[in-house]
Amino acid sequence: RFYECKAIPVSYGEKIHCLLILRDITMERNLELMRREFVSNVSHELRTPLTSIHGYAETLLEYDLSDEETVRKFLRIIEGESARMTRLINDLLDLEKLEAGDIQLVLEDVELSEVGEYVIKIVSPLAEELGVSIYEDMERGVFVEGDFDRLVQLTLNLVDNAVKYTSVKEHGPKEVWIRVYTANNYAVLEVEDTGIGIPEEARKHIFERFYRVDKARSRKMGGTGLGLAIVKLIAEKHGGTVSLDSEFGNGTTFKVRLPLKKVIE
Ligand code: ADP
Repeated sequence: RFYECKAIPVSYGEKIHCLLILRDITMERNLELMRREFVSNVSHELRTPLTSIHGYAETLLEYDLSDEETVRKFLRIIEGESARMTRLINDLLDLEKLEAGDIQLVLEDVELSEVGEYVIKIVSPLAEELGVSIYEDMERGVFVEGDFDRLVQLTLNLVDNAVKYTSVKEHGPKEVWIRVYTANNYAVLEVEDTGIGIPEEARKHIFERFYRVDKARSRKMGGTGLGLAIVKLIAEKHGGTVSLDSEFGNGTTFKVRLPLKKVIE
């Protein structure tokens, strides 16, 4: 714990006493440390793509522009890195708004399998390109009270990760399963993959902002390190939770539990 100590002289007749005031400042100090760490993380995360954009642009300016293949390669890197910066800023703004309560959920009865179908459509081209098969086993008629767009964002983050971190596995099947079912008055949305898995010591940090098991790999795949923090916040905003099971080297399963609104048989 941290304390701030102030000494105030107090006179009692002839004698001068000293009044010591101790104040517990642990919470302020921790908040200040968290704020500093956050600013330093954000600066670092923005500086990395900027340095690369600057470097490639500078090289291009001095380069023999008739070598079209190399010029295109450099331009693709610049394009990819600037897209990652935009994603990073959008994710940061989203997190901030969700945390501050500035984003009002637009609540309606949402059928979870519809969310799953929507996400599969978005992710399929990437999965195909990376050689990952997506399978589904989604019960129909499972409804929650939620914000469709935010639930898509949550599911997309999980499925996108599952595809990415499965594609880089060297051996074995490359599969992602999306499931929807009910259990104990909860609607469950599950994303399972046969990917690289998450080491045990990393699991307790995995939902923290900017935490990655392998920073370089995440950046190379266009990651911002904010996806799972957003997943957790969206689940909590819906009165739900998110948990994970993982076997390092053998795959990961994320489970989102949301209060069940109704089941239509
Ligand atoms: P990122 O943009 O780096 O993917 P996330 O917040 O989405 O950020 O995820 C944090 C980290 O968790 C990732 O960098 C990766 O190390 C790990 N991770 C997330 N999902 C998976 C998964 N399905 N399989 C293996 N590792 C994962």
